[in-house]
Amino acid sequence: MCEKKGVPGASALTEEEKKNGVRIALAGNPNCGKTTAFNAWTGAHQHVGNYPGVTVEKKEGWTRCGNQKVLLVDLPGAYSLTPYSMEERVVRDVLAPENAVERPRAVIDVIDSATLERGLMLAVQIRELGQPVVLACNMMDEAKRAGIAIDLEKLSARFGVRAVPTVARSGEGLDRALALALEKAQKPCEPLVLAYGPDVDPALQRMSALISEKKLLVERYPARWTAIKILENDEVVLDQIRKADPDAARDLEAQRDALAAHLSSTHDTTPDAVIADYRFGFINSVLKDGVLRKDNAKDRLAFTDKLDKVLTNTIFGPVIMLAVVYFMFWTTFIVGAYPQGWVEDFFGWLGELMTGVLPEGLVQSLVVDGVIGGVGGVLSFVPLILIMFLIVSFLEDSGYMARMAYMLDRVMRAFGLHGSSVMPFIIAGGIAGGCAIPGVMATRTMRSEKERMATMMTLPLMTCGAKIPVFLMLTAAFFAENQAGIMFAVTLCGWAVALLVSLFLRKTVFRGESTPFVMELPPYRLPTLRSILTHTWERGWMYIKKAGTVILAISVILWAALTFPALSEKQSAPFEEKIAALEAQIAPLDEQIAALKQQLEGAPADAAMSRALADATEQKAALEEQKSETENALASETVRNTWGGRIGQFVEPVFRPLGFDWRTDVALISGVAAKEAILSTMGTAYSIGETDPDEPDSLSARLAADPGWSKTVALALMLFVLIYSPCFVTLVVLKNEAGGWRWLFFSMAFNTGVAYLVAWAGTLVGRMIWG
Ligand code: GDP
Ligand code: MG
Repeated sequence: MCEKKGVPGASALTEEEKKNGVRIALAGNPNCGKTTAFNAWTGAHQHVGNYPGVTVEKKEGWTRCGNQKVLLVDLPGAYSLTPYSMEERVVRDVLAPENAVERPRAVIDVIDSATLERGLMLAVQIRELGQPVVLACNMMDEAKRAGIAIDLEKLSARFGVRAVPTVARSGEGLDRALALALEKAQKPCEPLVLAYGPDVDPALQRMSALISEKKLLVERYPARWTAIKILENDEVVLDQIRKADPDAARDLEAQRDALAAHLSSTHDTTPDAVIADYRFGFINSVLKDGVLRKDNAKDRLAFTDKLDKVLTNTIFGPVIMLAVVYFMFWTTFIVGAYPQGWVEDFFGWLGELMTGVLPEGLVQSLVVDGVIGGVGGVLSFVPLILIMFLIVSFLEDSGYMARMAYMLDRVMRAFGLHGSSVMPFIIAGGIAGGCAIPGVMATRTMRSEKERMATMMTLPLMTCGAKIPVFLMLTAAFFAENQAGIMFAVTLCGWAVALLVSLFLRKTVFRGESTPFVMELPPYRLPTLRSILTHTWERGWMYIKKAGTVILAISVILWAALTFPALSEKQSAPFEEKIAALEAQIAPLDEQIAALKQQLEGAPADAAMSRALADATEQKAALEEQKSETENALASETVRNTWGGRIGQFVEPVFRPLGFDWRTDVALISGVAAKEAILSTMGTAYSIGETDPDEPDSLSARLAADPGWSKTVALALMLFVLIYSPCFVTLVVLKNEAGGWRWLFFSMAFNTGVAYLVAWAGTLVGRMIWG
């Protein structure tokens, strides 16, 4: 029975471990509460979500058990240890890593007690891998309410592992589970050996004997486990063996083929099907034996089912979904308008204060135009963003977001994507306010490489949190009467373009089969206030932090780019001379007007004198206008002469068909560094060029008053920002995940090209509507 050769674990803690901590892994099916438990143990704020596929990478965190330090590893959810999906491979590689030192001493397998059978399927496989396991039978509160009773004593005895009831949300039972895991980690533990029947077992025995003899992967996996994987056609393990010993690999494959041929001819089945059947058989025999009782069990999902009859109904479902998204934008604008006004007023006041306090010159310009104009502009959208995130967090935690994904799955399939593309799209901002980076990471759950690539390339088109303030600013300036409607339309437009583009990509660059999809819907749960506030704050804080760091730095750089070099004496002289000349003409007129007014007071009915006064006033107004025009021309010449201005003007002809002027072009270029920078750069560029102190000081108001801007230009800019090149960090993540620099350049060039076309089409439509 003992096959443990070289597999570590199963001994007292080393001095090193006592001092530096013991590694314990947290495994389980998706959505069973692992991350909730992890956060409770470690005090971390990892993302918890009431839908599968939230944790894609492993996360590590420290906790204590008595005076022993423990390093907990939170794993993505998995149903098995086959290498079919990225998550399952992550789980497997963490549990049995290449470097034995990193192998966890024990595994806490978190199980949703209401779906015990399925949870045990993974537990069996971890035990086969030779890891000591403690079962944390989680969601006991829900199971109890549903009338499900689990005899944990019996389960522990039959299954040969300790089972502990837990409620991760309240922290109940977690300490005990950790203490048991630590205890288990120090005791010898043999891999579980299941019987796989008269056909498979003899083959397994022969194969594992060969594996042990040739010492194939024995440092990493129990020999019997390796043999099972070969029977299951696990290419990853096979490749590892082929590298170590090609002859043995051929031998093992021949044995597998012989068994497969035998099973196919006698029972019309395959080795992996037989293996799965026996595992099920084992679990059922454990559960039937009085472990699981559902005597007076109410249907646990009765409420969820009833709600889903309406919310995912073929007709009502999509209508309700659209209404929910519209409602979210509507609430954001209605409620958010007040606090946003306060924040804007605050920055306006701060700008004026600084203008008064600081002496006129470079420092004043840096603080007022660069920092307050740039960062302040980004920060003034914090209230709106927080409200939006609050609603998104509620949708997510309640389980409704998963329904959205479920309904959208039908749409995705029609465009060559996959059901599991939906979550990445939503995480990237499909509903509003996400981020493409975790979105790209979330595509790791996808099994088909082609579908995954198409998803990764198109999800940057969603309205991520950084693009939102640009849209909010433009809608406030040009579509104030229907902000929610326009935001809604932009969101839908992002989806439409993303779907069409992926259809195109799947017919050309990523042509290939589509794979089937089964999605599991979590039950509806009333979110805890704490979790909603935490989520809202996490997202909001990320935004604020970015404004205070990256965006601040970009603002200062852009301010410098739009300030230096200053005009030379020779360049500015003509303007200044002209201004001086105009002033010289205005001064005597002023005197004349004052004199005439005085005289008129004595003789109010003098018609000639009244006419003279009117003439003089008119003359003065004309001269003042000339002066103001010259001042504007000087300001504009000054900015045009700067490095930023020169770059902007260089690319201006390219964007002129879309109606963007060079200031917008500079903003778009800086937006590749981070999308928030579009807003901050426009803030800086438009405030530097501003000479009239009576002008409005919010960027929206400035644009609305600018003759170069119109509804059509605003629409084109929104479409362009929505679609063009992903930001720098997303591009780097894309390069890593898609495997190659060419995808970075592809995404940059292709998206910008599509953006140009769509924005141009938008210009045509805009001209038709608004003239
Ligand atoms: P993971 O996918 O396994 O990491 O699961 P999460 O930790 O993200 O949790 C999934 C959902 O289950 C969240 O909505 C949690 O609030 C909820 N949840 C977690 N543990 C419990 C529990 O013990 N009882 C109840 N009722 N809900 C829980
Ligand atoms: Mg998780």
